[in-house]
Amino acid sequence: MANVLKGGPVAVAKMAELSEQIEELKARGIHPCLAIVRVGEREDDLSYELGATKRAESLGITVRKFLFPEQVASDVLIHALCKVNEDDTIHGCLLFRPLPPHLDAEQVTNVLRTEKDIDAMARASLGGLLTRTNVGFAPCTAAACIELLHYYNIPLKGKKVAMIGKSATVGLPTALLLMKEGATVSVCHTQTAPEDTKRFCRDADIIISAAGCRNLIGADYVKEGQIIVDVGINFTPDGKICGDVDFERVEPIVAAITPVPGGVGAVTSTIMSGHVVEAAWRRLSLEEDK
Ligand code: NAD
Repeated sequence: MANVLKGGPVAVAKMAELSEQIEELKARGIHPCLAIVRVGEREDDLSYELGATKRAESLGITVRKFLFPEQVASDVLIHALCKVNEDDTIHGCLLFRPLPPHLDAEQVTNVLRTEKDIDAMARASLGGLLTRTNVGFAPCTAAACIELLHYYNIPLKGKKVAMIGKSATVGLPTALLLMKEGATVSVCHTQTAPEDTKRFCRDADIIISAAGCRNLIGADYVKEGQIIVDVGINFTPDGKICGDVDFERVEPIVAAITPVPGGVGAVTSTIMSGHVVEAAWRRLSLEEDK
């Protein structure tokens, strides 16, 4: 039986830490504030927004929403993001993606100032991750994977990690954060031959799957003693949420595994609140340096 690495306790511990910090910020006259910018009414955006709003407000972070219809003109959206940039009472901003196809996503996402870009949408934020400078933030899901591994005292230094997925929002930044922690990372993706992905997985100490592919990681991909982090969000034919890992077959073999739901996803919105708090601290220290 594997140790099931639930996200709930990770989020609770992080929230306790954040509550203290928010109290301290408020005592110093700073009220952390998150701006949510949403275009249209995609169901997954609405459900993510609900989770992020609840988590932030439960911590005492103010949430301000900027909502636009699906057909919003590019200049209207850009103007709103410029307003967010200029508003000193807003510390972090979340913009839902993908944007509708008539908008130039590259142009829009790069308007947001890096210091408010709490989910690393803009080029400069990913640059900060690459150069390991304190510019911007890591994408929340990538940071949530690392937070979860730290919480459960899973060593990363010198460990072999098979990272499945290389997207700019999950796979690639998670691989970068893992390397920063001293892990040796093999990144697999759709152009990796399936037998190679299987080989990298079996050879790894830790497998992190962010492919969005149900049952990708089966019993033949794993071995005893491994740690499995399942980032994927998929659905079974009868509509139940599931990850990339065939949990029933993999769990009896490995040492530890995150569930879906209730694993990494349960940590992500807390990390987002954490980035807003960190952004507020950075602003405070800039003001104090003036
Ligand atoms: P994406 O579609 O942008 O990227 C998927 C990546 O996986 C690509 O790099 C692709 O090459 C790779 N891939 C796909 N199928 C593969 C296969 N069979 N073998 C090897 N590599 C394969 O998706 P994303 O935005 O990176 O998200 C990945 C998954 O994580 C999705 O299921 C998404 O819903 C989920 N997700 C979860 C959270 C969370 O908080 N738990 C947050 C964001 C995304």
